[in-house]
This record gives sequence, C-alpha cells and structure tokens, in this order.
Amino acid sequence: MERKITKQVKVGGVLIGGGAPISVQSMLNKPADDIDGSVKQALELQKAGCQIIRSAVPDMNAVKLIAALKDALEVPVVADIHFDYCLAIECAEVGVDKIRINPGNIGSDRVKAVADICGRENIPIRIGVNSGSVEKEILAKYGSPTPEALVESALYHASLLNRYDFDNIVISIKSSNVENMYKAYTLASEKCDYPLHLGVTEAGTQRMGIIKSAAGIGSLLLNGIGDTIRVSLTDDPVKEVYAGFDILKAVGLKTDAVQIVSCPTCGRTKIDLISLANEVESALQSCNKQLKVAVMGCAVNGPGEAREADIGIAGGDGCAIIFKKGEILKKVPENMVVEELLKEIDKM
Ligand code: SF4
Repeated sequence: MERKITKQVKVGGVLIGGGAPISVQSMLNKPADDIDGSVKQALELQKAGCQIIRSAVPDMNAVKLIAALKDALEVPVVADIHFDYCLAIECAEVGVDKIRINPGNIGSDRVKAVADICGRENIPIRIGVNSGSVEKEILAKYGSPTPEALVESALYHASLLNRYDFDNIVISIKSSNVENMYKAYTLASEKCDYPLHLGVTEAGTQRMGIIKSAAGIGSLLLNGIGDTIRVSLTDDPVKEVYAGFDILKAVGLKTDAVQIVSCPTCGRTKIDLISLANEVESALQSCNKQLKVAVMGCAVNGPGEAREADIGIAGGDGCAIIFKKGEILKKVPENMVVEELLKEIDKM
C-alpha cells in the first residue's frame, strides 16, 4: 500500500512520520506517585517491544517519575500533561522526549514558554483531541463533536504553536466511536501533513478493545494513513503492545515477524490442533524471522491449503506431518510436533 508521507518528527531515537516504520506505543497505568512500580511496568513494556512509553504527569511530584523513567529506559518517554504548563517545562528540563499537551488549554503566554523550551530542546508536542475536548465555539458551530469538529479543534491547537514558530507536532484525534475516528483521521490526513498518532480511545476491555482498535487503526493503515499507534485497553498495557504489533502484522506493515496461518479445524481433525496452534504461536511470538507458518488440522487438505506457507504441520491421527513449501519433510508423533517444528524453524 502507498503510505501518505507526513512531516517527520524525532522522539528520542524513534522517528515518527515521513515514511518511518510505524511505531507502537503504550501508556503506564500505575499511580504516578508509585515510582518503583511505574519503572518496573515501563521495563516490562520495553521488554515486550514497546517503542515509546507515555506516563501521566498529574503534578510536580510526577516529574520525578519522568526523570526516573529516563534513567531506567532505553526507549523514549512521553509526558502526558493536561492543564499545567509548568509541568511541561519541568519535564522538558529533565529530558523528556515528547510532551502531550493541548496548547488551547493553557493560555497564550504559557504556550510561548512551552513552545520555546520544546523548540530549544527539540522536543515534539503531541496535540491530542477527543470528543470530550472540543472547544465550545467549535462545538456550537458543528452541533456535536463530528469528525470535522475534531479536526478543526486539532488544527486550532496546532495554529497556537505555529504562532511561536513551533511545528514539531504530532496529532491524534481519538474517539471511542470507530466510524468517527476513521473519518476524523481521514479528514486530518487530507488537511495537514503532521504525523498522525492513531488510536481508538476508551476502546474497552481486551476482546472488544482489540476488535475496535483493529477495525479503526487497521482500516486507516490500509489506506496509508497513520504514523504511530496505540491500542488502548482496560487491561495490562503489555497486552496493548502485543495487540499493536499484531495489527501491524495483520495489515502487512510488520514483516520481521512470523505469521501463523492456522485452520479453523473441522470434522476431519484428529489431533488437538487448538492447543498446538496456541503453543506454536506463543513459542514464536518474539521470533523475527520473516516466515509464514501453517498449523493445519489434516494431511488431506492441510499442505494444499497452506501451500503459500514456508513451513507447517498437518495433523493426522495422533501424529502430524511437517511440510516445507508444500513438500512433506517428515512424520512425527503428536507429542513431538511443536518441538520438531521449532527445530526446523531454527534451521531456517
Ligand atoms: Fe478441516 Fe483439514 Fe481444512 Fe483444517 S485443513 S479445516 S482439518 S479440512
């Protein structure tokens, strides 16, 4: 797919926009005053592959958390600030890599102070609007937080920073309504060249949250829109990271990973394929070989159905065959299937 080329911003060592690979972000959800717990969670996110980690900064005390995160992490750290511009300045002073703040919330002298320090330190600012944040005047014009209203609000915030020659901006326009979010980002992509941070906000608990995010984020990515993503789940943020990468894999934007193809099983299946598929998936979760691995229920249709796979298994009665590019390699008992398959993948 052809991706829209946006302006590029640099968040620590991670590039966003301008054709850079799409980065996966998440946000800490421990209380901000629990510095040890937050750092521990951030390290878990980093280990899971999270490329940008955001933390809420509700008060001055939380600036210490930003400093602690900067000491502990290799990945960039983003401070999420709502109204207090002093927090933004303090976070910039302790070396934060990006700030999420809406300049319309803080008053013009204060916008200048934030734009000046962020300009000097080369710290990008993410403007994050959502249905609840649209300004009264814009709401009055549109009657409700329509996609047009959301985009107008985001561009209004950007214009406040532009006044002070600040253009190192990322925009997010989130909605919990997938259709609105899709339309708003599509419109934003037509109206500006700022890199877009995609997400469905308040997406829900694991199952529905992932489905909504996959529908909203996935369809935008397939249209070439979006530069960085966050799946938001009412759950452990590590699951957000895995879901983010899975969405990228599903739309073909993460190729340094194993793609599992597995059949839905049917009356021909004589092997515990569901367990096998789950085992194979978790064993290969962090494998970055560019392989398609098939886990099929029967030898009659399996290799044929998975002809495009690089390697795979097809279940028999208490056994399975391992095949490579559609050719049978060997037959192994059911309890050895995963082990043997992984050995073969190791050699590839
Ligand atoms: Fe059924 Fe075999 Fe197809 Fe799986 S691969 S759905 S077991 S026919």
